[in-house]
Amino acid sequence: MNYENIFQEIYRELQSVKDEGHVADYIPELARVNPDQFGVFLATINGEKYAFGDAEKRFSIQSIAKVFSFVLAYSRVKSDIWERMDLEPAGTPFNSLVQLEYDKGIPRNPFVNSGAIVVCDILVSELASPMDAILSFIHELTPHHSIRFNPRVAQSEKETGFRNYALVNLMKSFHNIHNDINQVMDLYFQLCSIEMSCRELAEAFLFLANNGVVPYSGQQILSPSRTKRTNALMQTCGFYDEAGQFTFKVGLPGKSGVGGGIVAVHPERYSIAVWSPRLNKKGNSHKGMLFLEEFTTKTKLSIF
Ligand code: GLU
Repeated sequence: MNYENIFQEIYRELQSVKDEGHVADYIPELARVNPDQFGVFLATINGEKYAFGDAEKRFSIQSIAKVFSFVLAYSRVKSDIWERMDLEPAGTPFNSLVQLEYDKGIPRNPFVNSGAIVVCDILVSELASPMDAILSFIHELTPHHSIRFNPRVAQSEKETGFRNYALVNLMKSFHNIHNDINQVMDLYFQLCSIEMSCRELAEAFLFLANNGVVPYSGQQILSPSRTKRTNALMQTCGFYDEAGQFTFKVGLPGKSGVGGGIVAVHPERYSIAVWSPRLNKKGNSHKGMLFLEEFTTKTKLSIF
């Protein structure tokens, strides 16, 4: 299938759609991004690659990074994750405090902020240099070796992260955070401020389309069963309180971030990353979601 022609066709069609969204200005450094950028990259498990637009430009991957930290903890760390968090869709915004109080400090899943913060706490307990371990882990997944976090974005999040500090304090009061709060939050903010391009993201997620094996190196990251479970979590919990919409309209497991990126995976076939910084009201890339909806409709390639 000639995916590049399909990308161009969809992009042309979307030109007539008004992009009503706004960049994530609650993190001041993210408000500085040019909102009109747009990139797509698709990588197949057979080594085919298709790019469109700003596919090589790095951006702040934000919550997409929660998949990397989760898989690192799930694959390499012995501690039992599921005693510390649940695996149910949240149905509330990504930074909601309400559900957490009700659930006595147990996050609904690893992809809401509270769940990702507990994953950071686990990594702080188990690893000597957790941020270095996360970056080395990402470098095992992709052939690119210069992926970093942006310290300015991490600092900007730290200075304005009142809600995230509220989440971690609430969980600490329920004894679900074991380490020093500042150490855990520094790791969380660095994690969210990792920068990658659509190409790097699509390539890094390809093991989830390939039964847990990195296609270019042959390295088994997760067992097929844990790969299936990770994809199931992305399907049910990867899009804040819009996971149902994404499943309904796009029909692929994936994860979004407030930097405007979305990565989606078609098991046994491909992974695709889209970037368009303007977000809809739920915090997902407005055009990115529309693009993927058109993509799976035109190609008839969704898991449903
Ligand atoms: N760093 C962001 C926050 O904690 C991540 C949000 C997101 O991408 O969902 O608010």
